[in-house]
Amino acid sequence: MKAIDPHIHMVSRTTDDYLQLTIAGIHTIAEPAFWAGFDRTSAAGFRDYFHILTVTEPARAARFGVKHYCWIGMNAKEAENLTMSEDVLALMPEFLDAPTALGIGEIGLNKNSRNEIKTLELQLDLAVRRNELILIHTPHLEDKLKGTRIIMEMILSEPRIDPGRVMIDHAEEHTIREIKDSGFWFGLTLYPHSKGSPERAIDVVELYGAERLCINSSADWSVSDPLSILKCANEMRRRGHSEQAIGNVFYDNPKTFLSQCPKFQVG
Ligand SMILES: [Zn+2]
Repeated sequence: MKAIDPHIHMVSRTTDDYLQLTIAGIHTIAEPAFWAGFDRTSAAGFRDYFHILTVTEPARAARFGVKHYCWIGMNAKEAENLTMSEDVLALMPEFLDAPTALGIGEIGLNKNSRNEIKTLELQLDLAVRRNELILIHTPHLEDKLKGTRIIMEMILSEPRIDPGRVMIDHAEEHTIREIKDSGFWFGLTLYPHSKGSPERAIDVVELYGAERLCINSSADWSVSDPLSILKCANEMRRRGHSEQAIGNVFYDNPKTFLSQCPKFQVG
């Protein structure tokens, strides 16, 4: 089957992972800017990272026939130093202009701190001024519901942002209803060995429907699985859903969301 992984951190993966993706049918991926597994000490570290996302990875992916897109943003996990965040924000427009950069992300909250909120506010403002798509990272565990609500409130209070052009990622059962009812897209992340199993994701499809839903691997530097979306698709197949319904979740939906950026071109 053909699938798109709309959220995967290939900077942390091997060339063998690119080969596995492409022979399994994942020919198009999008890589959000995020914490790379270590704290960067200056904006220069982010400049190098954004260069990797916009130049190095697309070239590495192309060697295996994979089309690589990216998102540019200042992640919440490193946003505690406000001066550095502002320096990173000043770098972002240059990289957002790259032909494969789809929008601003993944931005959002991690611990729901004041400086994270300030950094998010500045990036939402940049998104408005440039009319960029937005990819939102929501906090994990006990901070998730509160953080998701703070983020949605900030976005909905800005009338120039269309929630239909915003993906709120790492959603869980207790946040999905509010996200959907507010008009946003929502993302489900498949985490091996912890929350977000294929079974749980397909339960969500059956309970909430597939509208405005994208499922991703978020595979990165830690324990993760770049092929998890296909394993999840297989769980949907095992339960008797049609190939058309499966393709809708794992190909058509990410294509529809990402195609709102005219740079995203996929057959
Ligand atoms: Zn991520």
